Amino acid sequence: MGRPVTASTLTHLQGSLSGATYPAHGLARTDPVDGRPLLARYDLGRAAATLTREAMASRRSGGLWRWTELLPVRDPAFVTTLGEGSTPLLPAERLGRALGVPRLRVKAEALNPTGSFKARGMATAVSRAAELGAPALIAPSAGNAAGALAAYGAAAGLPVTVVMPADVPAANRDEALVCGAAVLLVDGLISDCGAVAARIAAATGAFDVSTLKEPYRVEGKKTMGLELVEDLGWRVPDVVVYPTGGGTGLVGMWKAFEELEGVGLIGGARPRMVSVQTTGCAPIVRAFQTGQRFAAPWTDAATRAGGIRVPSAVGDFLILDALRASGGTAVAVPEDALDDAQRLAGRLGLGYVSPETAAAVAAVGELATRGDIAADDEVVVFDTGIGHKYPPPPGLPRPAVVAPDEADVECLVALLAP
Ligand SMILES: *Cc1c(COP(=O)(O)O)cnc(C)c1O
Repeated sequence: MGRPVTASTLTHLQGSLSGATYPAHGLARTDPVDGRPLLARYDLGRAAATLTREAMASRRSGGLWRWTELLPVRDPAFVTTLGEGSTPLLPAERLGRALGVPRLRVKAEALNPTGSFKARGMATAVSRAAELGAPALIAPSAGNAAGALAAYGAAAGLPVTVVMPADVPAANRDEALVCGAAVLLVDGLISDCGAVAARIAAATGAFDVSTLKEPYRVEGKKTMGLELVEDLGWRVPDVVVYPTGGGTGLVGMWKAFEELEGVGLIGGARPRMVSVQTTGCAPIVRAFQTGQRFAAPWTDAATRAGGIRVPSAVGDFLILDALRASGGTAVAVPEDALDDAQRLAGRLGLGYVSPETAAAVAAVGELATRGDIAADDEVVVFDTGIGHKYPPPPGLPRPAVVAPDEADVECLVALLAP
């Protein structure tokens, strides 16, 4: 309305390892040179002309699509949205004090459509795939990606197939089915599902939107980093703690900081990035600790936190490079610490968080104890998903069962009186 019309400044794709450049005008998957992720590149000089602090302050609605200049969709007619993005950055002082980090904040990604930040990545990937003419979409998923793909595919009017491990939480499976997706269950891990999805994609022409095996999911997840900086008044926090599976969110945020510096909205300061995994599946932590740039696949991956049960990540070196360049670290928390943290987070005001978020919460406590996080550090934990889609943590107390007659209720009132 009287403001300059803004548009995507996408210019080309670049191999994240090879550095080779490719045009961005067709459906693309990984770098043909080495099979590693392709990343979207923008004309940051042109973006800087309209992507200013003032302009962002004036763009009040639109969720993640407010960042038009740094998103890949060229024609707004292809934007498929369910209201993703613009999640609040909430203070979490009570939990923070309990963990020894009073300046703890939580980016409430569970408030996204479909209950997880997977919505961000699927919104941009599905929109861009529709713009580029994909006839159908397919992806493997350990949980939340399936529901998000099904929901966004339906919103875009594209047929969706999801391939999931047979032991995936029922809520994830049902969400995909309700949204009209074809659901295939595989007796195996997410990596096995990936292989099945790739075979089906090759045979049917469905476009495979596996994490970091196409360039645009990371663009949606990048907006977590853009928003975080804006939420804090155009600066970065001291530490970002992120439950890491395929690493799209962490890689995306790191890319966001680089692009924000490129358009002149921040300087060279970066938060220390922390990847959190569980002791049952910790390929990134192991590679970080042993000084490897690439992570060997984890065998017999097992954890209740399905979103971070990823034995092998195609973007491993991007995660590890970011952790090291930022002065951050990687930490694996035991499964029972995750169960405890889920209940602690609930009791201290975060609501019913996912086991993945709980892993990140547990990691904050551990890092504070070790001295890797200082008591006055400003720490941001990403609450990546809601707890409702998962089986509950073990050991919940049994609710009291009361008959609706007066004597019983009175007896209970006496018991509960402070
Ligand atoms: C997918 C998922 C993760 C891991 O995200 P990546 O960006 O792939 O590392 C963490 N938490 C939840 C709830 C997820 O669904």
